[in-house]
Amino acid sequence: MNTFHSTRSNDQMVTAKQAIRTGIAYDGGLFVNDDLGTANGPHIDIAGLVQSSYQDIAYSVLKALLPDFSEHELRECIEQAYGDQWDDTHITPLKPLGDDWILELFHGPTSAFKDVALQILPRFMARTANTPDVPEQAARTEERIMILTATSGDTGKAALAGFADAPGTGITVFYPEGKVSQIQQLQMTTQQGNNVHVYAVRGNFDDAQSAVKRIFADHEFANTLQDDAHVALSSANSINVGRLVPQVVYYFAAYAQLVQRGAITLGDPVEFVVPTGNFGNILAGYYAKLLGLPVAHLTVASDKNNVLVDFLNTGVYDRNRPFYQTTSPSMDILISSNLERMLYYFSGKDEALVAKLMESLSQDGTYQIPEDMLKRIQTIFSADWANEDEVNEAIASCFASTGEVIDPHTACGYTVLQRMPQRENVAARILLATASPYKFPRVVNQALGFDHTGSDFACMDVLSQQTGTQAPAALRGLEYAQERFTEVIDIAQMQDVVRRAAFTL
Ligand SMILES: *Cc1c(COP(=O)(O)O)cnc(C)c1O
Repeated sequence: MNTFHSTRSNDQMVTAKQAIRTGIAYDGGLFVNDDLGTANGPHIDIAGLVQSSYQDIAYSVLKALLPDFSEHELRECIEQAYGDQWDDTHITPLKPLGDDWILELFHGPTSAFKDVALQILPRFMARTANTPDVPEQAARTEERIMILTATSGDTGKAALAGFADAPGTGITVFYPEGKVSQIQQLQMTTQQGNNVHVYAVRGNFDDAQSAVKRIFADHEFANTLQDDAHVALSSANSINVGRLVPQVVYYFAAYAQLVQRGAITLGDPVEFVVPTGNFGNILAGYYAKLLGLPVAHLTVASDKNNVLVDFLNTGVYDRNRPFYQTTSPSMDILISSNLERMLYYFSGKDEALVAKLMESLSQDGTYQIPEDMLKRIQTIFSADWANEDEVNEAIASCFASTGEVIDPHTACGYTVLQRMPQRENVAARILLATASPYKFPRVVNQALGFDHTGSDFACMDVLSQQTGTQAPAALRGLEYAQERFTEVIDIAQMQDVVRRAAFTL
């Protein structure tokens, strides 16, 4: 059952539960499992999934990737995470988009794709404590977990919604001051729950994210919290195995819906276009392929922060470049953490090489992968990006030609999809839609030529009237919700507020 180890070393094997509970490996690496993609590794029979519900598909995928959870535990987690807090029974419904398809990942409680993972992660977390196969934790029956998250917008709210009042947990969220939309900020600052804390931080997302990483790496601090407050720190960022694995499910669900609709025949290869920042959304598609889903190709769609596009084209990752604040804030990222897992698999599971590349990234902000490794990656992955003008044009042309209203993140993907060559071996192309357009109503109205001069809420009403679509009730209701968290802090204060929160948990 000890199937996971760090991307940077393999001397410490842990269970899926331990990997989820700790979030990141002791050496700073990401947890990976070696049997994935091998002949004797986990494999999913797609024929059996075609008539299945989302929940049953989720069970098959989670069982394959998290083998030490019992059937009962997984079924319970799935039932609680994918219930009527979703406004579509398909959970991730698939719709036609001209000659292509669009998979909507934003029907959860916070209207962003991160709900897919963050509705279930707290339920996993609650089942990692005091289990017989986590012996060193048996002694600490009252240990609680404090989730720390730096967010560029969507993760924060989705994590807060998932962890609010979840037994045995607390959550502290940091977002860059002034760098998230009015709606995103209100979503976080109005969050209910006795175990939640939200702070605006002076700096950009990468500054906040780096500070969170430093807090995690401070072993002395961790020991103090452990001994004096009985609190262990953990991460809800997309590097957690418990975030990544639930995202694999929607690739299978998309495929099953295509077969059900008669759009493809079982076994036909398909291609996904994936708006990506931290590489979590698209990496899940690669995991689906390793589990046996016929994925012919995966295309990264970036915004103006196109570090991944350059990497996938040249083999050089270089974060030494300007950081742009765009209308797709959840993709404004210069360090794509989950890329490390892809490097692991494409290097032939070479921990020493991954450790060296990550050391180079941390020291110099750059690394280069071997030529043959790049060639292998390029057989499956490609990448393109959209600038701000193209995002606006994409929102307008998508609405004009398909009737679908898309958000700025999805619009990066739409731009890339339109520009992409039609590959011969691909039976269907699926664009992943990652946020409701109502999370970014001002940008969307502007792109569509509608009035965008009032508040975000006035913009929502205009968007609704002009397009005949409906704003999600939880978003529209924010106008009258009470703000609970208004404190702005410096990077240097982050560790202190975590300490305070831990002692009140
Ligand atoms: C987080 C997010 C993305 C990117 O997902 P990654 O896991 O970082 O690749 C894209 N769009 C939206 C709306 C998001 O919230």
